[in-house]
Amino acid sequence: MTIKPAREEILEVAAQIRPSIFKIAEKKGWAVNENKDIADSAIEGLARNKIIHGKRFCPCRIPSGDEEADKNYLCPCRDALADIETAGHCHCYLYTKKQ
Ligand code: SF4
Repeated sequence: MTIKPAREEILEVAAQIRPSIFKIAEKKGWAVNENKDIADSAIEGLARNKIIHGKRFCPCRIPSGDEEADKNYLCPCRDALADIETAGHCHCYLYTKKQ
């Protein structure tokens, strides 16, 4: 059975996660998407995965259940650096290139 977290729980976990998202961006030399709706949506997706799967898996991908393969999609994921360099943003548009 798939857990369907309540909206309030997602928002609560998202609020706990949010500061670390900005810290990661700072550390990596990236920015958090200035579009707050997009950033919030990605952060809430991370919160949902944290509640359901226990880890902050990428909100734009469905964990396969293969622990090794899924490690690549713990946020920030394996592809984030290259995607931000080449496209200017990560797959989920959470992190962007610093202007
Ligand atoms: S694409 Fe990568 S960096 Fe962006 S939200 Fe998903 S896991 Fe995080």
